[in-house]
Amino acid sequence: EEYVAKTFERINKLDKKINAFITLRDEEEVKKEVKESIKRGGKLAGVLIAVKDVISTKGIRTTCASKMLSDYIPPYDATVIEKLKNEGAVILGKTNMDEFAMGSTTETSYFGPTRNPWDLERTPGGSSGGSGAALAAGYVDLALGSDTGGSIRAPAAFTATFGLKPSYGTVSRYGLIAYANSLEQIGPMAKNAEDLGLLYSIIAGEDDKDATTIKYSVDNPPGEIPIKGIKIGVLSDILEMSDKSVVNVIRTAIDKLSSEGAIIEETKLGYAEYALPAYYIIAMSEASSNLARYDGVRYGYSKHFEGNWIETFSKNRGEGFGMEVKRRILLGSFILSAGYYEEYYIKALKVRRLIKNSLDQLFSKYDVLLSPTMPVLPPKIGEVINDPIKMYAMDVNTVIANLAAIPAISIPAGFYNNLPVGLQMMGRYLSDTMLIGISINIE
Ligand code: GLN
Repeated sequence: EEYVAKTFERINKLDKKINAFITLRDEEEVKKEVKESIKRGGKLAGVLIAVKDVISTKGIRTTCASKMLSDYIPPYDATVIEKLKNEGAVILGKTNMDEFAMGSTTETSYFGPTRNPWDLERTPGGSSGGSGAALAAGYVDLALGSDTGGSIRAPAAFTATFGLKPSYGTVSRYGLIAYANSLEQIGPMAKNAEDLGLLYSIIAGEDDKDATTIKYSVDNPPGEIPIKGIKIGVLSDILEMSDKSVVNVIRTAIDKLSSEGAIIEETKLGYAEYALPAYYIIAMSEASSNLARYDGVRYGYSKHFEGNWIETFSKNRGEGFGMEVKRRILLGSFILSAGYYEEYYIKALKVRRLIKNSLDQLFSKYDVLLSPTMPVLPPKIGEVINDPIKMYAMDVNTVIANLAAIPAISIPAGFYNNLPVGLQMMGRYLSDTMLIGISINIE
């Protein structure tokens, strides 16, 4: 009772400013569930968890931070939620995010921006910014996010927390409201690497309800892995694209790894400048197709039935979607239209393959590829939101792992002028537990 009461007290005190939650559950209900869960037991008996509002939760409103779904209550739980409940976790609330996970700052939310607990003038990153802020503000120890092109790692970096974009196919996407299926994964977020590993071990695994999951399970939470002898490639072409302030902090972290016996070499990804355009072409194409289901009839915002079908459809979508989502539907539809499909979409798929091949080669030499997670410090609220190209450019380091389906972790590297900087480590496909093990050691 005390644990729940203290948590709510803290949220009531701080969250009017921070705005990490879109939906906070009823305190008495949570208390009851925590008590019952402790009686039943499990690896997370009675532990509160914050869940990004893109993940379906039975009976709890799931909005995707959009007016389109602002009243939507799912009739079923996502597989990851089922797994967490089986281990005793109790959902505290649903966290703020960019609308339909499209953004890097949690400013495109219909429910207003989330603020960074380290500096309230700044964004906590996005799109899982509410989950990152909920951890950094000390509301919870565990949170779920989703990562299509960095949405777990950006907030982890900007809030000095830990986040993993798992290998594609290791965590079920059943019940995740789709943005870009070929890129995204649900993943764990936590205040330390041990907890991150525990959460990952619970949510990972094959699922009959998601045909893209593979035969895979993590039976025990990963343990510590020594740094000595680990071969680390530092991606110099990525470092060159990052701000000096960030590079300074990363260089200090690299020196520390080297002094602890890691074998460190500078190397290049190659094609680094093409990763971002390829990512956005693929992500927007998939998004435009996925979001066609919001027709104002079957799902969500449904205020207009006048006129013919096109009029009804356009009016509901025109009012239900925000600016950034509309921009992506328009661009995605354009990219996939006859004549442009080969020029853009097919070309982007070719770049995706080249990046994958380049990574395969690098992983024959290195265990880990290291870079900053974000090329910049957390921007001020309002600084990038009206300049989409500037916002997209922030994802230059993170999108690579999504294009290549490999795991990538963000861990705190240090601070620059009291602002958090994140270190990203990418590993071979299915080396998720190794990345967590190394992070436990570094921490
Ligand atoms: N910022 C990227 C985008 O807007 C990534 C978002 C995400 O990972 N969901 O597409």
